[in-house]
Amino acid sequence: MTEPVTGVRVRLAPSPTGFVHIGNVLVALVDAAVARKTGGTFVIRIEDTDQKRFVEGAEELIYASLEWLGIDWQESPNRGGPYAPYRQSERLPLYTAYAEQLITNGDAYRCWCSPERLDQMRQGQQAAKLPPKYDRRCLGLSEDDRKALDGYTPDSVVRLRMHDTGTTTFTDPIRGSMSFENALLDDRVLLKSDGFPTYNLAVVVDDHLMGITHAIRGEEWLPSTPAHLRLYEALGWTPPLIAHTPLLLNADRGKISKRRHPWANMQWFRDEGFLPEAVLNYLGNLIAFVPDPEATAPGVAKELFGFDEMAVHFDLRSIGPSGKVVDIDRLEWLNGQYIRRMSLDELAERASPFLRKAGYEVDNLPTYRNALKLEHERIKRLSEAPQALSFFFRDEAYDPTTLIPKGSSAAQALELLDGAVSVCERAVDAGDWTVSGLEERFRGHAESIGFTTGKLRGQLFGVVRTASTGRTATPPLFDTMVVLGATVVLRRLAVARGHLVALANAPREDGSP
Ligand code: GLU
Repeated sequence: MTEPVTGVRVRLAPSPTGFVHIGNVLVALVDAAVARKTGGTFVIRIEDTDQKRFVEGAEELIYASLEWLGIDWQESPNRGGPYAPYRQSERLPLYTAYAEQLITNGDAYRCWCSPERLDQMRQGQQAAKLPPKYDRRCLGLSEDDRKALDGYTPDSVVRLRMHDTGTTTFTDPIRGSMSFENALLDDRVLLKSDGFPTYNLAVVVDDHLMGITHAIRGEEWLPSTPAHLRLYEALGWTPPLIAHTPLLLNADRGKISKRRHPWANMQWFRDEGFLPEAVLNYLGNLIAFVPDPEATAPGVAKELFGFDEMAVHFDLRSIGPSGKVVDIDRLEWLNGQYIRRMSLDELAERASPFLRKAGYEVDNLPTYRNALKLEHERIKRLSEAPQALSFFFRDEAYDPTTLIPKGSSAAQALELLDGAVSVCERAVDAGDWTVSGLEERFRGHAESIGFTTGKLRGQLFGVVRTASTGRTATPPLFDTMVVLGATVVLRRLAVARGHLVALANAPREDGSP
């Protein structure tokens, strides 16, 4: 027999119902931090007893999301462990046995009420402004007794019998002392008519059998906790510490909705070019205080930190119960900080899947690295790279009128462009297609045509910029031209020239020649 594992044991108990919610990731981060800090064990248990909501592949997505973030765990269905199986659908006989034991001891009872009857009952309670709870029509009845009454169905469920009076209290490490009046609590279903346990029965049985010491979950599960405590009591087990992490909120301090906040889905961060270390750091900022050793005053939090550092300082009690606003702009800023700090090689490597996806060939392309270098400081998400770099890869269509400086005419722009072409050709002839070579020649040229002010120089450079890139805003002009190379630049200047000739010769709108 396997030795029981001792020490702190935490678990993430996700239901494989599709996408991985950002709230679940926050719980996973808390679990992982508690386990790391205490030298404990982090277990993943798959709560797949709701067959209607089961989605193929969802379990793998959970592992992949945590792995992407760098959150590690020790026991799970795919890794095994001393308490296997870790999928609830593979543990069904266990739950049925405990449900029978609860019935025998009078802590649970069968209920044969039809869905229609329960519906009617609820409507009646709503109309009378009573708290919604089962009215115990079946309590104390045999099936034969119950059959004689209306609203009977042979498909029975098992309900937990809550206490009629008194209060249920417990201390949540995040929220402090919590108290619930028993008379208001519902006799929840433990076993469904299909023989599957509900969340409430399975979670208690498994947390106990798997030696979980800290059951940490989202705030939305708080109303279920009194029923769980009642089960621990009825089964004669000591409950673990039960903690409820705060809700994540949108910028308006409202609930996150899957429809309106695509980032509710963990996958969104990956697709949108966020770095896992930035996402983890950001979530860490919401729940952990990591002191800044560089700060001169005490109590100053460090902004950038990794999991190891966070875990050292982690304390469940300091998370606080109030909802945490997810500020995507702030996360983006943080992401940009991580991008700036990485080497060009690393950035090139990590941005390349985004470029490939957009159809750019980035293998062994020196232009890619050189172009990326120019954008390194500006990029906040990896997904911005294709858009930022596209003009290095191909000639792009643009509105020819953007070649004309404000207040100038097409003819004037054409003159500026012709001058620029000569400057470029001279640089090529001199074998000096370099940033300093171009800069010197263009400045000298500006001087020679009397463009001595910054504004006029800006007009000249603007024409060259738009002509060689198709854009009005780019990284520094001469650096950009060097990365593009003389051949590409001269070809594009010739195309731009064609545009300007056409514009200069086009009949004016007022019909004048
Ligand atoms: N299966 C629940 C969920 O999907 C687990 C809640 C808990 O951790 O107790 O979040």
